[in-house]
Amino acid sequence: MRIVVVEDDERISAFVARGLGAQGHQVSVAMTGADGIVLASEPDVDLVILDLGLPDIDGVDVLSQLRRTRGVPPVLVLTARDAIADKVEVLDRGADDYLTKPFALDELLARVRVLARRSDQPTANRLERAGLVLDLGARRATRDGRVIDLSTREFALLAYLMRNPGQVLSRVQILAAVWEYDFDPLSNVVDVYVRYLRRKIDREDEESLIETVRGAGYRFRA
Ligand code: CA
Repeated sequence: MRIVVVEDDERISAFVARGLGAQGHQVSVAMTGADGIVLASEPDVDLVILDLGLPDIDGVDVLSQLRRTRGVPPVLVLTARDAIADKVEVLDRGADDYLTKPFALDELLARVRVLARRSDQPTANRLERAGLVLDLGARRATRDGRVIDLSTREFALLAYLMRNPGQVLSRVQILAAVWEYDFDPLSNVVDVYVRYLRRKIDREDEESLIETVRGAGYRFRA
């Protein structure tokens, strides 16, 4: 894979580049947010690893800017910030995963493998329900023909719910399927994302397509 690492700490970027290079990845390093945006927007990039503490632009703003461009590859955020609120903010801004410094190289490589698998998912797959269409190949969602702008994580959550219509899915199941690693099960990230999705996909005069099953989790209406 071609991976862009946006990190101003040379020690960390060299360590990450060496580790990824040893796995056969082709790595480009940007030391500033501005350079990172340019490199990450090149068409053949498969993954972006983004540090939040950059000298010129805050990493969160770099992320927002990348996410405004369509077709940007998955973004794995590196940060020294560890609060749940920060995690939720970063995921909300469109990061696909999150790693807190200091981290072990093995953990970084494991996250990279997960994101690589995800960006390799089969194409031309389509989920449809009540006028809501999810085109998994084009990563495009529409309801009644209207395009719905979803972050990568919102899209993954909606795809998971739509693949399991009528089934009650617990928060832990959803975290495992959509976040794909041990996210703090006490965090409210699933509820936060369901709220975002409802706001985006539901028709105003109807009950939500995503039902809350009290004490159990969520169910996509069959
Ligand atoms: Ca930094």
